[in-house]
Amino acid sequence: MTRAFITGISGQDGTILAGVLAGQGVEVHGLVRSADEAASHAPALPGGVTLHVGELTDGERISELLAEVRPDEVYNLAGISSVAYSWEHPVQTGLVSGLGAVNVFEAARRLQDGTGRPVRVLQASSAEIFGNPDRTPQDESTRVAPLSPYGAAKAYAHQMAAVFRSRDLHVATVVLYNHESPLRPVTFVTRKITAAAARIAHEGAGTLVLGDLSVRRDWGWAPDYVDAMVRTIRHGRPDDFVIATGRTHSVEEFVAAAMERAGVTDWRDRVSVDPSFVRPAEAAEQVGDASKALAELGWSPTVPFSEIVGRMVDHDLELLRRNG
Ligand code: GDP
Repeated sequence: MTRAFITGISGQDGTILAGVLAGQGVEVHGLVRSADEAASHAPALPGGVTLHVGELTDGERISELLAEVRPDEVYNLAGISSVAYSWEHPVQTGLVSGLGAVNVFEAARRLQDGTGRPVRVLQASSAEIFGNPDRTPQDESTRVAPLSPYGAAKAYAHQMAAVFRSRDLHVATVVLYNHESPLRPVTFVTRKITAAAARIAHEGAGTLVLGDLSVRRDWGWAPDYVDAMVRTIRHGRPDDFVIATGRTHSVEEFVAAAMERAGVTDWRDRVSVDPSFVRPAEAAEQVGDASKALAELGWSPTVPFSEIVGRMVDHDLELLRRNG
């Protein structure tokens, strides 16, 4: 039986991945930071998942856990998930999303060396490693030149993945563009918008305060991106794959689509801009070219933009109806 170890199992992608792997009969283990986090997140996970407490920044603990679990597949999804947060906490971001990933690679390498059994690692990389990209769309050969603390930490981890690959560890990466679902917290602009649209529709009142409405992002459906992770780690050769839809929409277009779905017609009067939500620096547009993933993994996105927005708004409306 295949055994998998997932760091970041309590996040959006980790939760979805645990469900996918458990459905395939994989024995799933996950890393959480505390017993409290384990208790609060366990109900969202499929039965049979084993949670282990540890910090990604504690290399010895990560090595100890991998030696105990002896996984065949290690998915490193943990990290500081929010670009906005990374500007406020650049050191913590580097420690967790940068060095934390290296702790995982090193633990996997030690396990492989110690047991003689192959270990495969999947690093969740990010479009943020390209910063303000010098070409559109971006692909695997685009220059790595991050602009945010989040992007710089992810870039370091991305480059260390290649370093460990040259030491005979099977480390593959997925360069993920924004990918959303109802599991997104409201710190992300998509869920912030769909939750507000549902609230305004439900109460007939309220406002939504955002940052830059003009930025364009390539938004996909998170379960598709998790599927890409599994295909990537099981691909014959450890490699990098851009995972994206190839289409962009502005934040304003996201707001319009969400408000329309919720049935809010006067939304322009309800949306305002607060400069404190505007990032110190970021790309005006990010869009990925996933042709390599299509050619080598048979992967392509399955849910169009309007449907992603619709599913998230419907979920938020349903939550409000259920909770009164
Ligand atoms: P990110 O790409 O991982 O940072 O995902 P987010 O969902 O946090 O942000 C996506 C884009 O939305 C970024 O370009 C933000 O600058 C933009 N944005 C505009 N207004 C807001 C806001 O109020 N909150 C957040 N989180 N992002 C916003």
